[in-house]
Amino acid sequence: MEVVKVDLREEIDNSYDITIGRGLLEGLAMELKKNPANKFVIITDSNIAGTYGKRLLNDLKKRNIGAHLINFPAGEKSKTRKTKEKIENEMLKLALGRDACIISLGGGVAGDIAGFAAATYMRGIPYIQVPTTLLAMVDSSIGGKVAVDTMHAKNAIGSFYQPKKVVVDLNFLKTLPKKELVNGLAELIKHALIKDRGFFHFIEKNIGGILACDADILKTAIKRSCEIKADIVMQDEKEKGIRRILNYGHTIGHAIESSLGYKISHGNAIAIGMGYAAKLSAKLGFLHEGSVIRQNNLLEYIGLPHKLSHHKLKPRKILEHIQYDKKITNGRINFVLLNSIGDAFVSDDVAIEDIKNILEER
Ligand code: ADP
Ligand code: ZN
Repeated sequence: MEVVKVDLREEIDNSYDITIGRGLLEGLAMELKKNPANKFVIITDSNIAGTYGKRLLNDLKKRNIGAHLINFPAGEKSKTRKTKEKIENEMLKLALGRDACIISLGGGVAGDIAGFAAATYMRGIPYIQVPTTLLAMVDSSIGGKVAVDTMHAKNAIGSFYQPKKVVVDLNFLKTLPKKELVNGLAELIKHALIKDRGFFHFIEKNIGGILACDADILKTAIKRSCEIKADIVMQDEKEKGIRRILNYGHTIGHAIESSLGYKISHGNAIAIGMGYAAKLSAKLGFLHEGSVIRQNNLLEYIGLPHKLSHHKLKPRKILEHIQYDKKITNGRINFVLLNSIGDAFVSDDVAIEDIKNILEER
């Protein structure tokens, strides 16, 4: 036997900056003029294509930068292989080559589809994240996880593909509906719960200001949330270890989303997931009961659910969907639990039976 070795130990620098401020959209076109890309394609959803999308497109054109805009129907239901294919076909029709750069403008849905399209178009072209929802600003635009949903499981088809930069313009939040703000707060609170007790105190103390969109309080909270996410991603880009704690509330949350055909918002679903994950953490002897109540009180205060109540979902159905998402060995799975507020860990030994019991408590 002969052996031909393919030695591929790569060292790549995937570093990028997250800039946070007000009015950054206005300066973006000017900044992109310095970018080596020849052509930009803005990918955005139908709700904001006519406002922010057009504004950015015109800014780019005014500076003689080649630019196109592609939009898809707003909403999680668009996060599919089909939408990605449509976008790719449009890009091919525009004869965009490897020198093109994608600008993802929108919430988590735009970011995920545009990022995944960037990952595979011509075997990968650069992309820039311009998140316009709170959820995308503090979570989904950072870390390079890009994917689409399938009927079986959320984010089932995707890739790790880092953006070249993330531009967080807080002015977008001025037009964001309250329910979308609350949706993003679920992830922001998650970051505090898994990593930073002090930040959890800050949120509790300033929740009034956050809900009222107080500029300084929001900026502080968003920056801290981005830092926590970035810090975890830096330690474990491909989610082989520590990054898994970011999935706190997500095992049950994702199962609820796919069971309900994505008719529940991601924030609501993971808030319910965190409710049960905290309860389970207490039941297994890690988390103090008082901390479960504290977490759930904060969720409740901002209008997020922490249990299933009115959703007509049987625990059995949720467990079925967990099986699509997770490897089950001898009736046990990996599950993110809390030791205390601000300290999460991954247990590789949580019994499915215990999850079922917690879900049945309602
Ligand atoms: P998420 O960011 O939670 O993953 P989406 O990407 O679907 O979710 O965005 C949620 C909704 O908010 C969409 O209908 C989208 O069009 C809308 N949206 C996004 N950004 C803004 C904004 N800055 N102002 C108003 N509506 C927005
Ligand atoms: Zn999430």
